[in-house]
Amino acid sequence: MTTDKIEKIVIIGSGPAGWTAAIYAARAQMEPVCYIGVPKQNPAPMLPGGQLMLTTDVENYPGFPSGIAGPEMMDAFQQQAERFGTRVVGEDITSVEFSDSGPHVLHTSKGDVIRAHTVVVATGATANWMGLENELRLAMAGGGVSACAVCDGALPVFRDQPLAVVGGGDSAMEEATYLTKFASEVIVIHRRDALRASRIMQERFLSKPNAKVMWNKVVRDVIGETSIEAVELEDTVTGEVSRLEVKGLFVAIGHTPTTGFLSDSNLAMDDKKYIVLNDRSSKTNIPGVFAAGDVADPRYRQAITAAGMGCQAALDAEHWLGEAGLI
Ligand code: NAP
Repeated sequence: MTTDKIEKIVIIGSGPAGWTAAIYAARAQMEPVCYIGVPKQNPAPMLPGGQLMLTTDVENYPGFPSGIAGPEMMDAFQQQAERFGTRVVGEDITSVEFSDSGPHVLHTSKGDVIRAHTVVVATGATANWMGLENELRLAMAGGGVSACAVCDGALPVFRDQPLAVVGGGDSAMEEATYLTKFASEVIVIHRRDALRASRIMQERFLSKPNAKVMWNKVVRDVIGETSIEAVELEDTVTGEVSRLEVKGLFVAIGHTPTTGFLSDSNLAMDDKKYIVLNDRSSKTNIPGVFAAGDVADPRYRQAITAAGMGCQAALDAEHWLGEAGLI
C-alpha cells in the first residue's frame, strides 16, 4: 500500500534507542510511527525489542535497584511510548530510498511504501554466536551462556567460579578483565596462538592473577542440561579434544550491526557497517536521517547509552523538522 501521507518521523527499531526516540518524539507531538520488526530465528533468535529480549536480568540500568528482566523492561518502554501516542507496526523495513531533499521512502516486509520527513534508524546490532545448538539453547534459557559480561558477569551464579571467554579481540579482553573481579579463574579460549586485541588490553587482562589463556582452541560443544557444566574443546593444531569445567561461558567474537536493509542507500557506514554519526550528534550524512543505539555505536553498546542516543535522535529530528518549517 502506498499513501500520500508523509510521516513526520518514522523510527526503525524497538530496543532502548528506538523506544526512547519514540517517547520523546510522541511527547513533542511528532506523531511517531515505530517499526518494531518481526521475530527471526536465523542464525540466532532475535525478537522485536532487540538484545534485551534475550537478557534475563538487567542489573545495571539505573532506576531498578533489584534489577529487571530484559523483556519486562522492553515491554515497559513500549507502554510508555504508546501512552503518548506512538503508533507501533510489527513489520520489518526491508529497503530504503533516502534522498538529500526528502521525503525518505521506506519499503516494508508487507510490501507497503511509507514516506517520511525524518527517519531514526535504531535497529541495533546482534552479538555474533559460534552457532552451536547447546550454546544458543543455554543462552536463551539463562543457563550461564552470555554474549555480554558487563550485563551478566556480576550475577551471583558466577561468583568465585571458573568462567571462560571465547575470542581474542578487544571485546574478549575487556569482558575477561571485567570477569576477573568476580571469578575464581577466567580462561580465554582463542582459536589462534596470538591475540588480535591491542597490547594495552591484552596486558590489562594478562596482569590479573586469575587470568589464563588457552591457545589454539575452539569450542566444539557446550555441556549442561539447564546450566553450563563444561565446554568441549578442540585443538586447532593437533585436533585433540578436551573438556574444560566452567560455570559460565561468555562469547565475545564480535557484533554485527543490523544495517543490511540499508545496503542500497547512500548512508555513510564504516568498514564494519556501523552507521557513521556527525557533529557529536545523531546526524548521519543524509539530512533528516538520524541514527541511535548499537547500530551506530561499536564501542559502548549498553542499554543506557542506547536510550540516551534515542533521546538525542528525537531531539535532533524535532529540531530538523522545526528548521524545515515542517512542525
Ligand atoms: P574483533 O576485533 O572482530 O575480534 C573478534 C575476535 O573473535 C577475534 O579474535 C576472532 O579471532 C574471534 N572470532 C571471530 N569469530 C570466531 C569464531 N567463530 N570462533 C572463535 N573465535 C572467533 O571484535 P571485537 O573484539 O568485538 O572488537 C570490535 C571493535 O571494537 C574493534 O575495533 C575493537 O578494537 C573495538 N573495541 C574497543 C574496545 C576498547 O578500546 N575499549 C573494547 C571493545 C571493542 P581471530 O583473531 O582469529 O580473527
